[in-house]
Amino acid sequence: MPDTVTADLLKFIEASPSPFHCVAETARQLLEAGFIEIDEAAAPIEVTAGQKAFVRRSGSLFAYCAGSESPASAGFRILGAHTDSPNLRIKPRPDLVRAGYQQWGVETYGGVLLATWMDRDLGLSGRVHVRGADGKPEARLFRCDKPIARIPNLAIHLNRGVNNTGLILDKQEHLPPMVGLEGVENFSEWLSKEMGGAEILSWDLGLMDLQPPAVGGIDESFIFAPRLDNQASCYVSLAALLAAKPATCTQVIAFFDHEEIGSRSHSGAMGAFLKDSLARIERNHVSSEPGGMERAIPNSKLVSLDMAHGIHPNYIDKHEPNHAPALNGGPVIKEHVEQRYATDGESTAWFRDLCRAQNVPCQDFVIKTNLACGSTIGPISAGELGIKTIDIGNAMLSMHSIREQGGAHDTAYLLKVLVHALEGN
Ligand code: ZN
Repeated sequence: MPDTVTADLLKFIEASPSPFHCVAETARQLLEAGFIEIDEAAAPIEVTAGQKAFVRRSGSLFAYCAGSESPASAGFRILGAHTDSPNLRIKPRPDLVRAGYQQWGVETYGGVLLATWMDRDLGLSGRVHVRGADGKPEARLFRCDKPIARIPNLAIHLNRGVNNTGLILDKQEHLPPMVGLEGVENFSEWLSKEMGGAEILSWDLGLMDLQPPAVGGIDESFIFAPRLDNQASCYVSLAALLAAKPATCTQVIAFFDHEEIGSRSHSGAMGAFLKDSLARIERNHVSSEPGGMERAIPNSKLVSLDMAHGIHPNYIDKHEPNHAPALNGGPVIKEHVEQRYATDGESTAWFRDLCRAQNVPCQDFVIKTNLACGSTIGPISAGELGIKTIDIGNAMLSMHSIREQGGAHDTAYLLKVLVHALEGN
C-alpha cells in the first residue's frame, strides 16, 4: 500500500490534467482549509498575523499564511514550482481532413518527448472561453476523459529502420491525431456540443493521456503518472503549506505557468507576479514599515522545486558518477556552478541541515561536465527578487514523457523537510 502522501499526490495529478486544473485543484484545497481568495483587481485588504489567502492569475497561483511578525523582520519562506508540462496543444484553426480522416492540428508545448505520444488513448483538457450570460467572454475549465483522439505509429513494415535509427517525427506532418472519419463535426462544433451548446470563443486546450496514475513495481517502490514534472512539486508544496504550523515568517507557495517555454509571460516566473504579490503583503501588513521590503528580501528564503534526473540503470553513462540521484533516495539538491540552478554553498548548507533535522536522506545532482544543463524557475526568481534561493526536487525517470516515473517514498520525505522550512527553520 502506498503511504497516504503518495496516494494523495496521485489524486492531485489525476485532478490536474492542465495548468488551469492544477490551479483549480490547489484553490479547492486551500478554500477547504480556510484560505480566502483575493481578487488581484480588488482593493487591498489589511494583512494580519495568521491570515491565509491566495490569488490566481491564469495558470499561476500565489498563496500565503501571514507570519506573527512582519515580513520585514521575519521574512518570507517561499516554495516555488511550475504548473505546466510539455504536451500537444490544439491550434486556433485545427480542422484537417486527410485520406478520409478528420484530424486536429496541434502545436508542441515545451520539450515534448514526442515518441511517447504515439498509440495512446488521448483526451483533451484546459480552459475554454465561451459567451457568458452577460454577453461577455467567460473562462471555463474543460476536460474530456473519453478516448477521442489517437496518433497512430507507422507500422514497422513501412518504417523498417526505426529500431536502429530511432523514430523521427516531423512536428507538422506526423503529430495531428485522428479524431474520426471525414464529415464528422468540426472542432468548434464538437467542443460546443461537449459544453452544453455554449458559444465557443477561444481555447487553451491540450491533449492528455487517459491512463490513470498508479503505484508500480513488485515492491510498490514506484509511481507511474503523467506530469510528475512538475505537479509532484506543486502537490508537495501545497501539502507543506497546509501542514505547517504558523510561524513568525510569512509562508508562501508560488506556482507558475509557462516554465516549460521559458517563463516569460504575464503569469510566468519571469513576470512581476511573485514580486508584486510579496510586496503587496509587506505593504498591507499591519506592521508594515517604510522600506520594509528591502529588509524582507535578505530575511527570506526561496525553495525552487522542480524534478531531478534520477539515475537510469540502462543509461548509467549519462550520469555524473558521484552525483547520480536514486529514486526513493530523498530530495535532490541541484547545483550548477554557472547558475543554471540558483543553489550555492550557503543554501546547500541550510537545506542539508533541514534534511538532517528531519532524518531525511538527501542527494546531490550535477550534470556531467560535458553535457548542457537544464534550468528552472530558481535562477529566474532569484534574479528578479534577490532572495537567497535553492533548487531542489525529487528524482524521476522519463522526464517530459507522456507518462513519467518517480519513487513512491520521496514525496513523504520531501514533505517533512518543506514543513520544517516553512516553520522558519
Ligand atoms: Zn520541470
